[in-house]
Amino acid sequence: MTLSSRSAPAADASGERIAGVFELFSIGIGPSSSHTVGPMRAAREFALECAAAHPGVAPDALSVAVYGSLAATGKGHNTFGAVLLGLEGGEPESIDPEAGRMRVDEIDAGAPLRLAGSPAAGIRFGTVDIAKHPLVVRGRFANEIAFSARFGDTVQAATFFSIGGGFILREGADPSPAAVPPAAEPHPFASGAELLAVCRESGLSVAGVVLANEAARHQQGAEGVSEGLQRIWSVMRECIEAGLSTEGELPGGLRVPRRAARLARALVADGAGNSPEWATIAAMAVNEENAAGNRVVTAPTNGAAGIVPAALYHALGRRHPDAFDSADARRDVEVYLLTAAAIGGIIKQRASISGADVGCQGEVGSASAMAAAGLAALLGANAAQVENAAEVAMEHHLGLTCDPIGGLVQIPCIERNGVAAVTAITAAKLAVSGDGAHHVSFDQVVETMRQTGADMSDKYRETSRGGLAVNVPEC
Ligand code: SF4
Repeated sequence: MTLSSRSAPAADASGERIAGVFELFSIGIGPSSSHTVGPMRAAREFALECAAAHPGVAPDALSVAVYGSLAATGKGHNTFGAVLLGLEGGEPESIDPEAGRMRVDEIDAGAPLRLAGSPAAGIRFGTVDIAKHPLVVRGRFANEIAFSARFGDTVQAATFFSIGGGFILREGADPSPAAVPPAAEPHPFASGAELLAVCRESGLSVAGVVLANEAARHQQGAEGVSEGLQRIWSVMRECIEAGLSTEGELPGGLRVPRRAARLARALVADGAGNSPEWATIAAMAVNEENAAGNRVVTAPTNGAAGIVPAALYHALGRRHPDAFDSADARRDVEVYLLTAAAIGGIIKQRASISGADVGCQGEVGSASAMAAAGLAALLGANAAQVENAAEVAMEHHLGLTCDPIGGLVQIPCIERNGVAAVTAITAAKLAVSGDGAHHVSFDQVVETMRQTGADMSDKYRETSRGGLAVNVPEC
């Protein structure tokens, strides 16, 4: 079931339409939403256009160029393999990670690349043929990828920006609200203040507002939304459980050992019950799976994919021990994810969820704010307390830079997710202990995050040219 498209939500940059639940939470592969999932989607979109314009014909020449952070850290993020798979028509949602890795190896060994899976002969084009320009940022966004294919006398070309969370934006797309008619949503909002007003006027909770809007977007209505949310949670849960049961070394050359499975065993042996440490370990389990290039749900990005599922895993364990699949647990899953999506959508609309744009505050900070809001909702918070929880979690990630060692989403990313999951729990508890009144509004903290990101040196925005990435030897 396709609930929504993540391609070019053109009203995002300045329009009124905020990202939907299934745009923020989408099933993909690791290790990076902006560097793996987005480029694969862009490549697939270009390949499908070529196939439509030149059916059954292989190109005479093909060129792909990546710029900025995509080029600087693309090797560690599997960007170049993802581009090849996308050019062959692969989709992050459905591609088998292991089969994909084998196919990239085949193409790099000389097998012809078939645009959009075309039966035509194909063209020799491997990851080494992708032009990399790490020091060049040409457009509005740091992650740019340009495609060109020649068919006889005709040239087909397209340029995209990968803008975080797996979202792509085509160069030249009109981002004004008029370019994309707003969805027929009964309760539109684009800021924390508007969300609070909508809740007040409608009498709905944050989750109720988002559900009504999301149901209006989809043919399947509320039932389809519910089904989609359960599907998202089942993939999140599978990812946690895969991480908790897998040992060994992560790929990429840093020789980082997986730790989640060992930590989980130790916690069980200690009889620690359902302590918040489970949230830390579950988040690390997800991010270890992500680092291994396996199936993961963006939440709202891959690098920060552990926090939202881990906090939910912990909450369900406390609220429904031994009954994860009960009707009450399923209801909790939906309330949590809908509430978290409201916060993620606002942040994406008003600032950014991309480490390449605003540093890790936009990835891990956003995920922590989303999780805090969802947890607060499960604890019975009203809309003001939900907004407060998100604000607290985001406030204490302000200024967080993105400096992954070796361009791999491993150090500091895996532990950072584990710590941020506990911050989300603390923020939710602080918020529900009050009455929703607080000095700093969520909108103010999001604007502060945006400004801080704008002031941040490029070195700290997913280029691996500063911070830990330069102060820690890679081996
Ligand atoms: S440091 Fe943060 S933003 Fe950068 S890759 Fe890691 S998780 Fe993503």
